[in-house]
Amino acid sequence: MTRPYLGNPKYTIEILQKYDFVFQKRFGQNFLIDTHVLDKIISAAGITKEDFVLEIGPGIGTMTQYLAEAAREVTAVEIDDALIPILSDTLKEWDNVSVIHGDILKTDIRKLALDKNGGKPIKVVANLPYYITTPIIMGLFENKVPIDSITIMVQKEVADRMQVGPGTKDYGALSLAVQYYAKPEIVANVPPNCFMPRPKVGSAVIRLTRHEESPVNVKDEKLMFCLVRASFNQRRKTLVNGLKNSRELDFSKEKIESALEKCGFPLNIRGEALTLEQFAELTNAFIE
Ligand code: SAM
Repeated sequence: MTRPYLGNPKYTIEILQKYDFVFQKRFGQNFLIDTHVLDKIISAAGITKEDFVLEIGPGIGTMTQYLAEAAREVTAVEIDDALIPILSDTLKEWDNVSVIHGDILKTDIRKLALDKNGGKPIKVVANLPYYITTPIIMGLFENKVPIDSITIMVQKEVADRMQVGPGTKDYGALSLAVQYYAKPEIVANVPPNCFMPRPKVGSAVIRLTRHEESPVNVKDEKLMFCLVRASFNQRRKTLVNGLKNSRELDFSKEKIESALEKCGFPLNIRGEALTLEQFAELTNAFIE
């Protein structure tokens, strides 16, 4: 058996049988069984022997074995009790891996980055449980965790939403939030037969490389994201109506129209037509 070995479906099946493992739908468990995809993820993440890597949801440790070969150190956070003894078994040959048994949404990742990487930017790699993709990504960015890049497998449709700009149906609050913090690049499309069990939807690997400097000049980040949410909550309405009806904002129609005029936007424009830069411009117009 050459290392890493779990990407081979034969060994995955052996491990699952050895432990009588029962897949938990509520944890979004679809394990990777394709060595090409695993190699692709590792190379897209650009992992070297200098890197500390956080893996979210290691499952039976398939990708963890690949990460352990490539990185200096790996910490993997897994929620499912049943997987903890399996991980001790499948990862016993690597001494640079530790497993935290817990919920990633309740894990202090900033502290982890400080303890394990001296507070320097870390790389995050994951085949994410699809039901919590957005809170995980936004949590990493908004909580100011020092991040170099996040390379993740997500539902294809979600990867598309992160990458697109105005003028497409997929463009929305997630696109703007991701693009504000990072440069998104889809690096592979992955069909259902690369997983066990097979998911119903197609998947994609997307790399989010954190911007060193913010791509826009915005005076109030929080206000900008309120404007973004208000625009897309009612995306068929004009921007003026979307902002006026928002529960998060308290601007009069006159104030909204004057901010739009200051930016040179037509009064009947829809929020979905604005770029990130234009949302920043509008935010600044409200403040001035
Ligand atoms: N990385 C493995 C692979 O590629 O084969 C497993 C990926 S599977 C799609 C998602 C994994 O995340 C499962 O092992 C699941 O138990 C775990 N998980 C789900 N919710 C989690 C949470 N809130 N915190 C940590 N792990 C979680």
